[in-house]
Amino acid sequence: MNRRGFGCALCALAAMRAAGAQTLSEFVEPGHRPPPDTDEGGLWGLMDRAERDLKTSRFVVRDRALNAYLREVVCRLGKDHCPDLRLYVVRTPQFNASMAPNGMMQVWTGLLLRCVDEAQLAAILGHEMGHYLRRHTLERYRDARDKSNFGAFLSLGLAVAGVGLAGTVANLALLASTFAYSREQEHEADRIGLELMAKAGYTRIAAAEVWEQLIAELAAGTVERSQSVLFATHPEPEERLGALRAAAAQAGGAEERGLERHRTGLAAVRELIVRDELSLRQYGRSEVVFDRLLAQAPGDGLLWYGKGEVYRLRAEPGDLARAMEAYARALESREAPPDTHRSIVMVELKQGDKARAQAALDAYLRAKPDAADAGALRMLLEQ
Ligand SMILES: [Zn+2]
Repeated sequence: MNRRGFGCALCALAAMRAAGAQTLSEFVEPGHRPPPDTDEGGLWGLMDRAERDLKTSRFVVRDRALNAYLREVVCRLGKDHCPDLRLYVVRTPQFNASMAPNGMMQVWTGLLLRCVDEAQLAAILGHEMGHYLRRHTLERYRDARDKSNFGAFLSLGLAVAGVGLAGTVANLALLASTFAYSREQEHEADRIGLELMAKAGYTRIAAAEVWEQLIAELAAGTVERSQSVLFATHPEPEERLGALRAAAAQAGGAEERGLERHRTGLAAVRELIVRDELSLRQYGRSEVVFDRLLAQAPGDGLLWYGKGEVYRLRAEPGDLARAMEAYARALESREAPPDTHRSIVMVELKQGDKARAQAALDAYLRAKPDAADAGALRMLLEQ
């Protein structure tokens, strides 16, 4: 990171500290770009620098089809603001999205995995756009300045620039909680998000579903609520869930879900995202996620493989049998990853059935003739 450059943006902010209170106009105008000598301009400068770093990060997922799909959703929701918004997919297996005041949005891959369809994704993006349209970060900044938390805010700004690039999840949660929007701002973003969804033709109940799913996942998980990035940034999920449900129930409205578009858009990165989820070894929550997705797509081979992996890796009593059942379901579909056979080899070996392990290895090598671990697996079988 270019510290010197960063420092200058901070200077611009510091210079504005003495400026009197300014009233925020209603919504950000399309094409808005604040003058650099204002506090808003300073904040934008800071985020522009963070964005330059993000652009070259190896954690940004650059798959074309995925980014084109996401761009479409952003423009469908954002309409005239579409040219002012830029969305980056960051490879982190957690549910989170963020919006910077300069129009830089981030969604983490863990969030993409958890959205069942395009309408649910639109619910998140619409909410984040609400923060942008009402300049919530600037509001928070001015609030911090008035309360003399200015130093904390600045060091936070520096740290925010590194989000998704380095810090551990625990650090991110801590950071996010410091940077959290107020309760009123969250409610306002929810309201705006619902409005954008309705105008774009998405079913608004999807917003409530996202929260329902997350609450269920957290209840099944082993991670403390206070350590969750999402719940640090978004307090009182149960309360918001109620409000979102009530709002969606009011008018009939649009019905669009976009299940197939969502699946096609993610197709090239789904396996990577599933593997990242498994790498966290939080089996309770992963099981909830895969079960939910399978309820919508019962023939999805990749999801059945993921579910099988949850059981194989957890290896509690009865899990190996559950894993084998899930692999069998995976192999009924054409999308089962070749590694499904590899996992069957491992389970059969654990259960001591060499003949079946050999059969699974043969199937694995037919599906993946250039497998790098072929030799190692053969040696395992010969032992
Ligand atoms: Zn929010």
